[in-house]
This record gives sequence, C-alpha cells and structure tokens, in this order.
Amino acid sequence: MLGSRGGIVSCEVCSRFPCQIRSPQELKRSLRKASELVDSEKLEYLGKGYWGDRFAKIRHGGSWGDFVTNFFRCTHCTQLFHLHAETYHGSGGAFEAIDKIEKNEKFEPENP
Ligand SMILES: [Zn+2]
Repeated sequence: MLGSRGGIVSCEVCSRFPCQIRSPQELKRSLRKASELVDSEKLEYLGKGYWGDRFAKIRHGGSWGDFVTNFFRCTHCTQLFHLHAETYHGSGGAFEAIDKIEKNEKFEPENP
C-alpha cells in the first residue's frame, strides 16, 4: 500500500503508529506507545541516532537527554519509523514513517 506522500509503505498495523510530539507529555506518551508496540512485537527496535539515548534507557520516560532519536521497523511490513524529539529547546518532534535511515543520523544499531 502506497502512502499519501508516495514511497512510504505502511500496513494496516503500523499506519496508526505516527504522531506529533509537541510537549514532554507527548514525548512520554509516544515512548510508552513505542515501548508497548515493541513488547507486543508489532515493532522491532533497530537502534538509536548518534546523539540520543538507547531506547531501553528512556522507554519508561523521565531521563532522556537533549535529543531523542530512535529507529524502529514494523514487524509486519518492514516500514521504518523514527521516533525523534529535540527536548532541550522543546521544539518537539514526531514519531513518523521514514523511507530510510539517513547517513547523517549517525545510526548506531542496537546489536552492531
Ligand atoms: Zn506495517
């Protein structure tokens, strides 16, 4: 199934995942949601962006650093997802479907 922006492929399961993150409360909610999806094996955690914390450290909220950047994959259709937020200035972020993990994210896989 092609998404409205083209290129993004998501299934019935993961098309409901994306959300905007505009506050620490929404970040906490998004992390909890991702955590539940990983636990229920709907989402696979792939790793983190260079400046972020490991998902295991922040998944239950509270102790994230200035940047939250974690990558996931839908276990059903393999769509990639990026949960990211800039917390220091509070400019927010999103939990969104992405085409690929950009090189400039300095991706660090969970199990190199
Ligand atoms: Zn999917």
